[in-house]
Amino acid sequence: MGLSIGKFGEFGGRFVPETLMGPLLELENEFFSSQKDPVFKKELEFYLRNYCGRPTPLYLAENLSRAYGVKIYLKREDLNHTGAHKITNCLGQAILAKRLGKRRLVAETGAGQHGVAVATVAALLGFECTIYMGEKDIERQAVNVKKMQLLGAEVLEVKTGSKTLKEATDEAMRDWVTNARTSHYLLGSAVGPHPYPLMVRTFQSIIGREVKKQIKSFERRLPDYLVACVGGGSNALGLFYPFVKEKKVKMVAVEAAGQGGDTPYHALSLIKGRKGILHGAFTYFLQDEDGQVLNSHSVSAGLDYPGVGPEIAFWVASGRVVADQVNDQEALAVFREVTRLEGIISALESCHALAWVKKKRFNQGEVVVVNLSGRGDKDLN
Ligand SMILES: *Cc1c(COP(=O)(O)O)cnc(C)c1O
Repeated sequence: MGLSIGKFGEFGGRFVPETLMGPLLELENEFFSSQKDPVFKKELEFYLRNYCGRPTPLYLAENLSRAYGVKIYLKREDLNHTGAHKITNCLGQAILAKRLGKRRLVAETGAGQHGVAVATVAALLGFECTIYMGEKDIERQAVNVKKMQLLGAEVLEVKTGSKTLKEATDEAMRDWVTNARTSHYLLGSAVGPHPYPLMVRTFQSIIGREVKKQIKSFERRLPDYLVACVGGGSNALGLFYPFVKEKKVKMVAVEAAGQGGDTPYHALSLIKGRKGILHGAFTYFLQDEDGQVLNSHSVSAGLDYPGVGPEIAFWVASGRVVADQVNDQEALAVFREVTRLEGIISALESCHALAWVKKKRFNQGEVVVVNLSGRGDKDLN
């Protein structure tokens, strides 16, 4: 894996217009130098601990364990400030942007979770902020739109194509091409051109590092399974990455099968996608015969993206991570169950990971860690 060119096996790379090469190289250099800079590490750690609420708990869900027939630990990313894992990456990138002298943050959002997280760090660290959001998502996630506006962000409605995350991403990239000198493009998942996938995974890997410590203190051993849902791959990679060399730990990436894997209404980019270039990276995405991007479908806006980041594509292609699927109905059933059994209203995204555990037959004594990537208030409608 030549990290300098941002490849994960054959996946990844940097396929962008010439105008973006400068800003991407600038960002890459700042990212690598910040990783060796104790001042950066200290500042990020300060906000992660005192602002975000890290480390998040690893919680043994006894009622759910009894119901699903295996010992289940939930990594409570829902307890982060703003209610999901996304703020962790936003803080990292916003501090980088500040070091680069940028004064404006640009981002796309699907569920609105990422947009709220970006608007939040923008308010905290004094950036102007523009968020692109599909018209359909604006309808589905009205409360998050209000929050972003209250936080001082400008929310721009995207009315093209499927009116969801893919088009919002296109628009945010277009904005960045025009305004790269003053603006940082704060990507919300481990997708896009190098250095984004590597950078986002690096910031989110704190999830797996915390889990490793926590599970050792509870179980005196590593877990048998790590399970996470996959939109672009950031919460899954964040949990998995610190364990990739631990051969006995199985890793499952759960994609959204929407109305069903055999219908056209799903978001199975790892399972049903083909290889090509999407949003600046070589990866799997849903495409038609001619290589045009197809629309994805899922009840959960955070998984409704037709592609997937290059690193999770690599781990799946190499066999280290297994990809599987859960449909809308299965996820919705679990949404109710986990609420009633544990008093935790989980994001529909994370319910996909939990529903995989519910369907699976485990051996006696096995231990599973599920990434509860976010809270479900946004999904009540
Ligand atoms: C955005 C989001 C996801 C999907 O994004 P990944 O980059 O794949 O993690 C999953 N869960 C929640 C709660 C989200 O907000």
